[in-house]
Amino acid sequence: MKNLILVKLGGSVITYKERPFTARRENIVRLAREILKFRNKNTDLIIAHGGGSFPHVPASKYQTQNGIINKNSVLGFSLTADAAIQINRIVVTEFLNLKAPVASFAPLSFIYGKRVFFDPIKKALEIGLIPIIYGDVIMNEKQGFEIYSGEKTLDLLAGKFAPDYAKVKIIYYTDVNGVYDENGKTVSSITPKNFATIKKNLTGSKKTDVTGGMLHKVTESLKLVQNIDAVVYITNGLSRGKSTKISKD
Ligand code: ADP
Repeated sequence: MKNLILVKLGGSVITYKERPFTARRENIVRLAREILKFRNKNTDLIIAHGGGSFPHVPASKYQTQNGIINKNSVLGFSLTADAAIQINRIVVTEFLNLKAPVASFAPLSFIYGKRVFFDPIKKALEIGLIPIIYGDVIMNEKQGFEIYSGEKTLDLLAGKFAPDYAKVKIIYYTDVNGVYDENGKTVSSITPKNFATIKKNLTGSKKTDVTGGMLHKVTESLKLVQNIDAVVYITNGLSRGKSTKISKD
């Protein structure tokens, strides 16, 4: 059985979060080179990325996370979906420049509410492709649509494909040295046991991000490691630094 590594490039490492629609191309290339080394004949790779200052600008303006709330909401949805695609194109292009066999899968097209069409991504892995997914907007039955983070999609894929692999590892690249405690020191390990004491130090993102933040990452990761046999690392994607490991025990 092979191993599976799922990597998420945070919006904060591939864009300048304070500058609308501005990618950090050199950082994308540097991380792409690093990540591609993880892949070998025994290890499959899935890549996810956030939207950073691309989709989060229209998403905040039109309150896209609330679905259809006024006459401008549907246009807001379109602009958010388009901005998510724009940063995805930049990421995909940089991987292709390195001759990596990547292919982009839009969550908007394979996830509807709680229903997910996994088959094309599974087939992509089987034939040696590296799937790239991203923070997107998806349709749902209740409010029309919702913002769907790269983390959520990555966790769905990890959960679905885990039984097919010997080991599953997830790495989140973000703009901090893992998860900090109340003194700003990196917490080396988070498990369901110590989460209650660490949770009070976790907040959402300070920036324009409407889905992100450390609380979201850690909460989703803890749910995942309790459901499947996987280990999650939160690490710095801007410079070398300490990491936090999230595991079942
Ligand atoms: P990304 O865009 O890279 O996915 P996010 O902005 O979603 O990153 O999450 C990382 C941010 O979480 C950090 O920049 C920081 O502002 C925030 N954060 C909140 N609580 C903590 C904490 N306890 N330790 C580290 N970062 C935290």
